[in-house]
Formats: sequence, C-alpha cells, structure tokens
Amino acid sequence: MPELPEVETIKLQLSHYLPLKITSVSSTPELKQNILHTSLDLKGKTLTTIKRKGKLLDFIFDDGSHLLSHLGMTGTWLIGETIKTSKHTHLTLKGPSYTLAYDDPRRFGHMYYYTAEEAEKKLAELGMDLADPEFTLDYLTHAIKRYPERALKVTLLDQKLFAGSGNYIANEICARAHILPTRKCKAIRKEEFPRILKAIKKVIGPALASGGTTFQGGYRDSSGEKGSGVQHLVVFYQKICQMCKKTPVKKIILAQRGTYFCPKCQK
Ligand SMILES: [Zn+2]
Repeated sequence: MPELPEVETIKLQLSHYLPLKITSVSSTPELKQNILHTSLDLKGKTLTTIKRKGKLLDFIFDDGSHLLSHLGMTGTWLIGETIKTSKHTHLTLKGPSYTLAYDDPRRFGHMYYYTAEEAEKKLAELGMDLADPEFTLDYLTHAIKRYPERALKVTLLDQKLFAGSGNYIANEICARAHILPTRKCKAIRKEEFPRILKAIKKVIGPALASGGTTFQGGYRDSSGEKGSGVQHLVVFYQKICQMCKKTPVKKIILAQRGTYFCPKCQK
C-alpha cells in the first residue's frame, strides 16, 4: 500500500506538469461504483496545485474546488503526453498537451470532489503529517500518550495521530527506535520519545529520496516505475535484521497486520 513517501513521490512528479487545463473527462462505471463518493465536475477547469496530507493527495483547481484522492492498495496517477491505459484506468483527464489518469486494479482507492471548505474539513480529520516541519517531540509525546493501553505500533498506524504512516513505516520506526512494536504506549520511557522522533526521520527521509518503496508489485509512481526504497528496510519483509546483521527477524500478527521485529535489537 502506498504510504507517505510513495504518495509524496507521485505528488512531486505530477506537479512538474502543472498547470493543467482539463479539456475532456472520461471514466469507467467502476469509478462511481467503488471509488468516487461525490459527483465530479472538472471539464474546463485548470489543475493549478497538488498538495498532500498523510496519504491523501489534494488536487486544487482554479475555481477553488478540490479533488481528494486516497490511493488505497494499488491506485496510482499517471501523467504524460501519451499514457499506457488499461481496463483499470478509471478516470482520464485530458489537457491540450498532457493526459492525467487514475489507474487502480483492485479499486480500493477513494476520491472526493469537494469545495474548499469541505476539503478542509476532511483534511482536518487527519493528525499531523509525519513529514511536516512542525512535527515536534512535543506533538509526538502527546500523541503516543493519548492511548496508554495501546501497543506502540498500533498507535503509530493511527492516521488521526500520525498522518501518512502505514504498515511498513510503523514497523520500521519501532525497529529504528529499538522498541518492540507490542510495547504499550504507557511503558514508553521519557528518553525513548526522542529516539522515536529520530527513527521517524530515519525511515521517512531515505524512503522519500528513493522515490518510495515497492512491495510485491503494488506501488508504481506516476511514470509507472517502482520505488527503490526497499533497500533501506531493516526488519520489514527481512529474514535477518539489518541492524545487527545476524538475528533472524520475528513475524507476528498485531491488530491484524504483519508485524516484524528483531528480538535482540528491540526491547
Ligand atoms: Zn537486530
């Protein structure tokens, strides 16, 4: 599933092509059935800006309207003079020179076409973005203390606290902070909060620089390429821990998600 670095990569790539005047719009019946939750009115409008909060892409048009897009498991946006469409290309927005299209084989993505006010409300449901410059130790500490009985990894997955995180990011943050993913939030010691903050930056930074992380063919960027961030992982999908380079990684299921840790490096 695309997480913060993957969605940011798509945002940056698409942004090179702006502004984009939409001269024609076409879609599949599945778009309305599964993906789009509002009515869409884009013809003649110009896409001027793309922002991101957490895993939501925020396409902003010249009339002030917003298209919010959550990529789900396999969604991506493609752009180019010509693009390779398939039966999974559910929305195609054509401009004079470039075509922007949404492709989603498993259709778990979501889209909302909103006024500025509605978009703001939807975005406010999310917690602070993990890559936000204002994401501070103070914010992190309060967010983790919010649900004392929860396991750390479960709290790290909560989009209302940590927007943009996902399963691989949460696993990797626990690993880099040397804390077991199952440790309760109330048992996080004072000196461990700065370690978690450092771990977040260590996980997000290189993943962004590598153009995102691809697992099992899921994520592609806007040119259809896979990200190379997988080389930075230390426990997620690893047989041997890449921190101590010798201990076999353990896998458990925590809150229905595959959870990986090094029993030696993480306490
Ligand atoms: Zn280890």
